[in-house]
Amino acid sequence: MSSSPSSAPLMLRGSLITLKRKCGKPTCHCAKGKPHSSPALSYNLQGKTKIVTLHPADVSEVKEALRRYNKALRSLRQQALRGIQQLSARLRRAKGGRGHEG
Ligand SMILES: [Zn+2]
Repeated sequence: MSSSPSSAPLMLRGSLITLKRKCGKPTCHCAKGKPHSSPALSYNLQGKTKIVTLHPADVSEVKEALRRYNKALRSLRQQALRGIQQLSARLRRAKGGRGHEG
């Protein structure tokens, strides 16, 4: 049984970069000067930078997936900040000497 890949929206972490390289063919234009550039996704895994080479056609989808992740991350951070505010308000109330409720 294979899971359908299109069911969940793609989410990616990292940043979009451009790799420059020479293909090695002596007749290619890259041998003389201009290297090939290909889009790639650079991300960090356990302290190491990893790179996934992309096809130019994938770039828009990857951008979208990175945006999706950042958006989710932002809302998660906001929730966490609200949580901290709630917690510190509760702690303040608990510590506050005056108006102590029995
Ligand atoms: Zn080349």
